[in-house]
Amino acid sequence: MPKILIVEDNELSRDMLSRRLRRKGFEVLVATDGQEGIAMAQRELPDLVLMDLSLPDLDGWEATRRLKKDAKTQHIPVIALTAHAMSGDREKAIDAGCDEYDTKPIDLRRLLSKMVRFVEDPEASGGEKSLA
Ligand code: MN
Repeated sequence: MPKILIVEDNELSRDMLSRRLRRKGFEVLVATDGQEGIAMAQRELPDLVLMDLSLPDLDGWEATRRLKKDAKTQHIPVIALTAHAMSGDREKAIDAGCDEYDTKPIDLRRLLSKMVRFVEDPEASGGEKSLA
């Protein structure tokens, strides 16, 4: 079961997204700010990070930069999430080391289609036991 770390300061967004992803079969961890996100990524080594960009204190860009600088976490794909598709936001996110980018409000189908480039879709593999 792919382990997803959601770093999001907005409680409502965080709860909604984590609930929906758990329902899809993902294991979900949550962090509420950049510092906690980095600490949790280092400790839990998730398969993917969904990183809100606008976070208090340490923002998502800086948190991503730090994850990508750390040999322990740099392999973990990061999908940036932002509330406004401001021009330049995507470039800034990619420059910070984000592997993908998506905008809020979350369109779960669209987000999942980006996530499955990096992690297995638990529903696609559901039931069937892999022989590998
Ligand atoms: Mn935020």
